[in-house]
Amino acid sequence: MHFKDLGLDQRLLKKLNHLAFNKPTEIQQTAIPVGILGKDVLASSKTGSGKTLAFLLPAMQRMYRSKPFTRRDPRVLVLTPTRELAKQVFAQLRTLNAGTPYDGTLIVGGENFNDQVKALRNDPMFVIATPGRLADHLEHRSTHLDGLEMLILDEADRMLDLGFEAQLRRIHEAASHRRRQTLMFSATLDHEDVVDIASDMLNAPKRLSVGHSAEEHTDITQRFILCDHLDHKQALLDKVLETEDYNQVIIFTATRADTDRLTKELNERKLKAVALSGNLNQTQRNSIMSQFERDCHKILVTTDVASRGLDIDKVSHVINFDMPKHAEEYVHRIGRTGRAGNKGDAISLVGPKDWKSFKNVEAFLKQNISFSTIEGLEGKFKGLKPAPKKKFVKKKPTANKPVAKKTDSAKPKKKMDKRYYDNMAVGDNVFVPKKKKPVNPATED
Ligand code: ADP
Ligand code: MG
Repeated sequence: MHFKDLGLDQRLLKKLNHLAFNKPTEIQQTAIPVGILGKDVLASSKTGSGKTLAFLLPAMQRMYRSKPFTRRDPRVLVLTPTRELAKQVFAQLRTLNAGTPYDGTLIVGGENFNDQVKALRNDPMFVIATPGRLADHLEHRSTHLDGLEMLILDEADRMLDLGFEAQLRRIHEAASHRRRQTLMFSATLDHEDVVDIASDMLNAPKRLSVGHSAEEHTDITQRFILCDHLDHKQALLDKVLETEDYNQVIIFTATRADTDRLTKELNERKLKAVALSGNLNQTQRNSIMSQFERDCHKILVTTDVASRGLDIDKVSHVINFDMPKHAEEYVHRIGRTGRAGNKGDAISLVGPKDWKSFKNVEAFLKQNISFSTIEGLEGKFKGLKPAPKKKFVKKKPTANKPVAKKTDSAKPKKKMDKRYYDNMAVGDNVFVPKKKKPVNPATED
């Protein structure tokens, strides 16, 4: 299956080719054909499965293929729960709309309102926004949605969890005409509020569920091993490389210096490792990558420079010698294996320094992770106690203590330690009791 089999415009195919996206992901394969037919979509799929392009491509196709309803109003509105995500979607849009007249603007909280008013006055065709700030602009009449052709809700469940239902409904009202197409993406479709709002906002939607949202990548076996210190990590790594039946391995480290040190050690033991670090120039990097692709080296040691985009089908194992700082990076890293239907193994070494990152990953995956051990190499470290409480959302405790709401109702019994929520940033899974607008500085003003 190629992008060209999905009915996409030649101009988009050219761009995709240029961006080196060859094969559509599963959600893209199912959502794009429905999206470009103008039908409503209610979709879920796991993180990192390429949902952004699954909605941006049909949106761009509409720009190319159909006339606007009005000259003035935005044609496509994408709503996301957080500013960070809005920025990411905006960045992805810019790779697609560069050099076209289909310009866009980013409307998120925390930025100057009047600058946004000015940007909206230029009649952008795409608006990528967080719901609170966009609702403010509707109120202020700095934008109108009568001519909106496509409303896209990314991570709808998170928006509802963050208390944006009222804003979503207001936006829906402002754009409620018969010809509007609505695409709703959510980590889960079982969430009762999602079902509710979907039945009001979508018109006979095509339901698409690819894999299960918060479920682990089934092609990748994920293992986590606790370690006491660097020497212990090293010993565990040696053992893993000795006992695992691997084809090719990518090892991720925290810093360039670690990459170089580890590569040297592996080579001293004749393990045919090569380092790909950020301080090499592009030619050197390309040459290392092509050697690795040709299987001249069994092991590639790198930092996050290689966590995205690499697609080498012989990679059977990904080892996180250090945990990534950002939880999403974890998904990108392990996604270097288990590609195109192959099975893969991901092994993460979690020491005291990795603990915070590990907890972020655990929350991001919406799973309670248990640890594996390697016989003879069991350590003493069992995880850190959470830092002293910092109140994240100021709210008076009521008689009925508010309970952090889980989005993944398929796993209601797995309870995350609530204490961790207090120290998390938005973008992690922070659940705020619904229907109260949260004081949430990173999301909205
Ligand atoms: P999701 O929203 O489902 O979590 P994203 O849309 O953020 O996933 O995509 C995750 C990563 O996969 C991004 O880095 C994106 O550029 C990349 N990606 C998306 N589609 C493809 C594709 N067809 N082929 C290769 N990489 C892709
Ligand atoms: Mg996404």
